[in-house]
Amino acid sequence: MSRSQMLYQLQQYDSGIDQAIKRIQAIESILSDSNELYFAQKKQEEYKLILDEKQKLLKSAEHIVEIQNQKITQNQNKLYSGAVTNPKDLEDLQLESTSLQKYLSVLEERQLETMFESDRAQEIYDQASAHADEVSQTKQAESEVLSSENSSLESKISSLQNDREAFLANAEISELPVYDNLRKSSGGIAVTLMQNSSCSACGSNIPSAIEQEARSPKKLSFCPACRRILHPGSS
Ligand SMILES: [Zn+2]
Repeated sequence: MSRSQMLYQLQQYDSGIDQAIKRIQAIESILSDSNELYFAQKKQEEYKLILDEKQKLLKSAEHIVEIQNQKITQNQNKLYSGAVTNPKDLEDLQLESTSLQKYLSVLEERQLETMFESDRAQEIYDQASAHADEVSQTKQAESEVLSSENSSLESKISSLQNDREAFLANAEISELPVYDNLRKSSGGIAVTLMQNSSCSACGSNIPSAIEQEARSPKKLSFCPACRRILHPGSS
């Protein structure tokens, strides 16, 4: 194995590990993001409060109508019981009856409005509940898929780490410090493939003298632009 081939192999392990770690971090951030569910449940709670209030108003409106009907019944009973005979009293009862009836229709109108509002609030609450349930189920399903992906990524990392250790135990790589420093300074990519005489990491053209050097199994050569180690690949 040439020097650049060995370092390129090492890079493959490290890039595989880096990618898996990145994905695990992305998964953690998706799993910890509960905003959508939080807002859906908050809306549901808000609409529940409104619904409770409207239902309370409806009950009270119904109660008021009931009381008004009782008053009317009492009035009618007095009026037609025969107990009241004085014409002035009868006239007063008659006037009271008219006024009670008039007010009853106002109260019934209010009751009807309250009923519409309560129905509407129920509808909105039902929609919000359905939405919150849907978001919760979607999140649950997503969380199961991502957790399982997370486990396979963890096994992948440990398998790559084992392979990497076994590889290092068998290969004598004197340029490890160079490789490690380059990984730190170059976004994790220390070794790059040379393709069609250019660096596949930064795209720069590789002069033919350096390209020749890179093809030598004994030498290491570097991209003149990004300073990464060049590996000629299989070609
Ligand atoms: Zn480069």
